[in-house]
Amino acid sequence: MNNTIEEQIKRFSTMDDNIPAKDRIIAWPRMGRIDIPLKALLTNLGAKIVIPPANSNEALEIGVKNSIEGICLPYKLNLANYIMALNSGANTLMMFQAPGSCRLGNYTKMAQKTLKKMGYEFDMVIFDMYRNKMIQTLHAFWHVTRCLNPWKYFKAFSLGFAKFFAIDCAEKMLLYYRPREINKGDAENLYNKWLFKIDECNSIIKSKFLCNRIKKDFKKIKINKNKEVPVVYLLGEFFVLLDPYTNQNIEKELGEMGVEVRRQIMFSGWLEHVLKPSFLYKKESHRERAVKYASNYMKRAIGGECIETVGDTVYASRNGIDGIIHLMPFSCMPEIVAQNILPKVSREENIPVLELVLDEQTGKAGNLTRIEAFIDLVKRRKIKKER
Ligand code: SF4
Repeated sequence: MNNTIEEQIKRFSTMDDNIPAKDRIIAWPRMGRIDIPLKALLTNLGAKIVIPPANSNEALEIGVKNSIEGICLPYKLNLANYIMALNSGANTLMMFQAPGSCRLGNYTKMAQKTLKKMGYEFDMVIFDMYRNKMIQTLHAFWHVTRCLNPWKYFKAFSLGFAKFFAIDCAEKMLLYYRPREINKGDAENLYNKWLFKIDECNSIIKSKFLCNRIKKDFKKIKINKNKEVPVVYLLGEFFVLLDPYTNQNIEKELGEMGVEVRRQIMFSGWLEHVLKPSFLYKKESHRERAVKYASNYMKRAIGGECIETVGDTVYASRNGIDGIIHLMPFSCMPEIVAQNILPKVSREENIPVLELVLDEQTGKAGNLTRIEAFIDLVKRRKIKKER
């Protein structure tokens, strides 16, 4: 019976089939803590995995050495993650590609070509987000695991999704509590404790209550309720927003300066919007809100997070947010467009915007000085406004 189903699926499969499922060792690029839910998803389907080390100077050096100079920073780090994973025994690499006029659509092909040239033997499995996203996703997981057990899929996806949401919930709490905590480090310690617990959780029922338990625990942290805390939106390209190494741990730096960061891109929100069929997605999506608010400045999305950056800036100014920090990798095409529109938005909507361009040459000290000066300005404006 299983063989028949497998043969039927195989007939429609366009993916390479060079490695038998039982011999596959799967890896994917690092980005923030997506390793935790992906590990739950794949291991519950019976897959063997390799998690490359978190992004670091070493990874960046490997990526830069093996990439063309002008390519964007996320590609360089992704490539380094693949190289490190292949060196640790991985033979199957996972990556998604998404629509939009940016380089992401070419990442997989470029990385594949480079790695083959370097002599690595592997299969690349692509999650194509262009169409039939849920079917594509299920098919990719079936392809690498050959699992046909519906219960295992139910458990893997329930746990994986619950963990994506729990991590984002813990991150939001950390961003709120860090600038207000009385004992320095309380929020960060609790966040790290919860990351460990989320990773450990292997029960579907317990996973459903993770968010509530996280919120309850964070509420126990002693905070200064009277402290004036400016609120800043962190906007820009997806990868640099989500990966603390790439963004030079900007959320922590800002939190320690007494600023509440509201990052507008969360992995769980994006995932829910991308994978849920549109008839089940009832609320206004982040993209829809952005398109609405950006309408005076852009008529359509042009790829990456350009329209979100513009729309969120307008939204922020109309909703009492004190400032915007826009992060973009050097040479990122969609964010260059946003960068050119933002001065006008900032002027017309009366909201301060700080642009930070990140690449392998960017020094942390220089950026910190700019951030401190910007936060000074934001604080002074806030006091003036309140008076
Ligand atoms: S959004 Fe920018 S940085 Fe990200 S893949 Fe596209 S061009 Fe590169």
